[in-house]
Amino acid sequence: MAPTLEEIILKHTLKNAHDYRLAIPGRIIGKVIGEFPDAKADMKGTMKLINEEAKRVNALSHEAMLKELSNFTFEEKKEEKKEIELPGAVQGHVVTRFPPEPSGYPHIGHAKAAWLDYASAIRYGGKMLLRFDDTNPEKEKQEYVEALKRGLIWLGIDWADESYTSDRMEEFYTLCEEMFIKYKAYVCTCTAEQVKKGRESMKLCDCAAREPQESMQLFRKMREGKMEEGEAVVRFRGNMQSDNTVMRDPTLFRIIKAPHYRQGEKYKCWPSYDFVAPIMDSVEGITHAMRTKEYELRDELYFAILTILELRKPALIEFSRLAIKNAPISKRLITPLITEGKVEGWDDPRLPTLPALRRRGILPEAVKKFVLSFGLSKVESVPGWDALLAENRKLLDERCARRFLVASPIMLDVQEAPPHEAVLKNHPGKPEMGERKLAATGEFFIAKNDADALQVGETFRLKDLYNLVLVEKTDEKLVAKYDADVGLAARKLQWVPRGSGIGCTVKVPHDLLDENGNFKPDSMSEEKGVCEPSCKELKVGDIVQFERFGYARMDKHEENGLVFVFSC
Ligand code: ATP
Ligand code: MG
Repeated sequence: MAPTLEEIILKHTLKNAHDYRLAIPGRIIGKVIGEFPDAKADMKGTMKLINEEAKRVNALSHEAMLKELSNFTFEEKKEEKKEIELPGAVQGHVVTRFPPEPSGYPHIGHAKAAWLDYASAIRYGGKMLLRFDDTNPEKEKQEYVEALKRGLIWLGIDWADESYTSDRMEEFYTLCEEMFIKYKAYVCTCTAEQVKKGRESMKLCDCAAREPQESMQLFRKMREGKMEEGEAVVRFRGNMQSDNTVMRDPTLFRIIKAPHYRQGEKYKCWPSYDFVAPIMDSVEGITHAMRTKEYELRDELYFAILTILELRKPALIEFSRLAIKNAPISKRLITPLITEGKVEGWDDPRLPTLPALRRRGILPEAVKKFVLSFGLSKVESVPGWDALLAENRKLLDERCARRFLVASPIMLDVQEAPPHEAVLKNHPGKPEMGERKLAATGEFFIAKNDADALQVGETFRLKDLYNLVLVEKTDEKLVAKYDADVGLAARKLQWVPRGSGIGCTVKVPHDLLDENGNFKPDSMSEEKGVCEPSCKELKVGDIVQFERFGYARMDKHEENGLVFVFSC
């Protein structure tokens, strides 16, 4: 028999009380309607029933609530993750690739692309290759190669093989000559300005009439360094009348004389992304090549090049580029912030780079969940950081020890305080995480926020220590009297003994950019505080939960105290 409305209300009220410690009608109504849509017909009546049930359940003891709850079963929530489907994928034969250009540190956008590449390979029992797409010597560095690899390792992504596009330069030259011979490319000696104008006005320049033989000769000069940068480019013979502007004789090679981090001075003539991407995907055996949606217009060129060169065609799959509100998710936007010294470096906790997320105590598992939640969808959205931080909090809650920190400390003196040593649990739900002892002398610091909220005459509790009654309050100091009564106090405050606390600073990152994409100089704030003596043992990289403050990652030990970065 189908459950009645009353039963459904009871079930969700108990569940809510269980999950949140207190059943709150506003959180229950949605679940009830979801399971019993008819209840919408009489919202007022339904709300009344929920209110009454919540009141009853909240008055139950924890044990009684659990006992009632055990009468119900709950459907396992379905994984919300979007399943990755690749067209024409054959189990065991899928090869994908992650092709970063080593021109900066990896960011969360790379994490999205890499996870999609990797997760789809895994899903079909295939493999993912790592390819450094390095044919622009002006932007690339070995430092970035290492950083990208470190980033992938941190994320938990395991590539099968690694390759460098620049290792195949000789092949590209040969294939380019094949294009000349097939009358599908030519060397253009117009200025960049002329090329641009021609493409806008859909007119061919005189160079387009160049015979393959002459293009070959010029191409050799380009390669031998006998021509200067900007003097000549190789262009694809496309269609200047095409509605797709990409097809209007795009550049395939250009002269760049800067030395290359890997190939040194060997090459002076470098292929464009448009030329190398299809060739690399084809010759490396990629079955499914994924890239972000803004490349969609380039698909036509991608396949045209493979058709001309008679190379195997991979499937191309596009997904939306990850954007996050007020964050620069692109090397092009991040690099100037670094070179102009606006941020501390690639791992400045305000940045969306992987080393920055790590320094901010964001776990790789949280990044994975967050980026994969978008799947291969092409829908553009601009989320904030909230979903990632919520995921992170869920993971940290399980594993982080609790500690006391008081921000903007205010002195608290306790009259007639019995000497006492508090025993504090490292985790409220995990006895195996142990405990620590904190000796109380009667002289404390508490947080300014808490001090501000206290009224003279009020009873409050120092957490896991004792109750106090506030007797006096000035801006500098509070005085309270020991209260032997152990009754419930409304406020339970974190505290640090004055003699043994350690000075600390918590750096708090905020949105780096304003609504117009401009750098916000006040995007990092600092909280000064005092934390309990056991924090001295923390190592760089440890993440703790400062109770009623938040999660923070130990960043460094400084002479005048500890420095943390606020996580979430
Ligand atoms: P950037 O602007 O950061 O240089 P890019 O696309 O030029 O971005 P690459 O290093 O060439 O960066 O990118 C490697 C892979 O990561 C590409 O497949 C690219 O599409 C993908 N990628 C880069 N940024 C994002 C992003 N914000 N969201 C999703 N994928 C991204
Ligand atoms: Mg790029």
